[in-house]
Amino acid sequence: WTEGTIADAENSLTELAALAETAGSQVLEGLIQRRTRPDPATYIGRGKVDDLGAVVLSTGADTVICDGELSPSQLRNLEQRTKVKVVDRTALILDIFAQHAKSKEGKAQVELAQLQYLLPRLRGWGETLSRQTGGSGRGGGAGGGVGVRGPGETKLETDRRRIRHRISRLRREIKNMRTVRVTKRARRTRNSIPAVAIAGYTNAGKSSLLNRLTDAGVLVENALFATLDPTTRKATASDGRIYTLSDTVGFVRHLPHQIVEAFRSTLEEVAEADLVVHVVDGTHPDPEEQVRAVHEVLAEVSADRLPELLVVNKTDAADEDTLLRLKRLWPDAIFVSAHSGRGIEDLRSAIEDRLPQPAVEVRAVLP
Ligand code: GDP
Repeated sequence: WTEGTIADAENSLTELAALAETAGSQVLEGLIQRRTRPDPATYIGRGKVDDLGAVVLSTGADTVICDGELSPSQLRNLEQRTKVKVVDRTALILDIFAQHAKSKEGKAQVELAQLQYLLPRLRGWGETLSRQTGGSGRGGGAGGGVGVRGPGETKLETDRRRIRHRISRLRREIKNMRTVRVTKRARRTRNSIPAVAIAGYTNAGKSSLLNRLTDAGVLVENALFATLDPTTRKATASDGRIYTLSDTVGFVRHLPHQIVEAFRSTLEEVAEADLVVHVVDGTHPDPEEQVRAVHEVLAEVSADRLPELLVVNKTDAADEDTLLRLKRLWPDAIFVSAHSGRGIEDLRSAIEDRLPQPAVEVRAVLP
């Protein structure tokens, strides 16, 4: 369903399809319904559920992906009615993050986000059992609970408890890893090496630009979220000054709050930068919307007050009218192509111009 215009919904659905393909699915068909708000029971309207069921049957689809976050009961109802697996946008994004996380910290952050998503959705036969046995973690444990479970405790409660334990453990681990990172950062600050963070919507070309600017050899994939773990590389300015360039996690519209929460420490690193290079995909149908979505996330981690250099990428493939429009809209932006190299030198000097000036070292020679 959508409350915005149909064009917005179509853009969002195109992106959802790209996300699904990134996750390894084959997308068969899209369905949009205009409503003022989602149906509390089935997300889309009841009549539309029948249409959906018919599409599932005719295409032989095995999964339905909804472009929004479903409540646990909406998800269950839709699964019952369509007889196939139902996934929402949040679960899909979490799945992709899980596939792409490589560093220890990235993996821990994704697992934390997945468990937080799972916890309220956990259901099992245990729930009815809990009522039969009087529940509430005490008492006789009649029937079930052989050995493994606590007296009167259901499997569901045990699972929930395990998940909560794991969540607090992961939180602790992430906090410790963060301390290590903060120490590294402090060392960098002490040596006063300026830091530049590359931010931008997912697939905008952040990794490609990082490669162009530093010959870093970072993995470039035409897949949303190829960039999950921040990569930091050293770059040398034309006057010999050294600065760091870091690639950050890809941003996406409606980034699940669990992800923002779990990746907070990574995102916060952006807030420590001296300059944010915000990369925009010039070939995207709605670049302004991408910029808005990135600004929203930056504001969440208080990185919205940093100096920002807007960079429109993929000018080799973008349409001329769009580029003219964007030039009028963002007169200070730098237009580049990471592929052809066009504008890269301009970008390099724009970055250098904006680097903080090093403190002048004064040495006095005492007699
Ligand atoms: P990231 O997710 O923002 O790090 O984006 P990547 O650097 O991984 O690039 C995403 C996709 O866009 C890849 O398929 C790149 O080859 C493509 N891409 C990046 N820069 C350009 C460019 O300047 N022109 C064109 N045509 N494609 C580009």
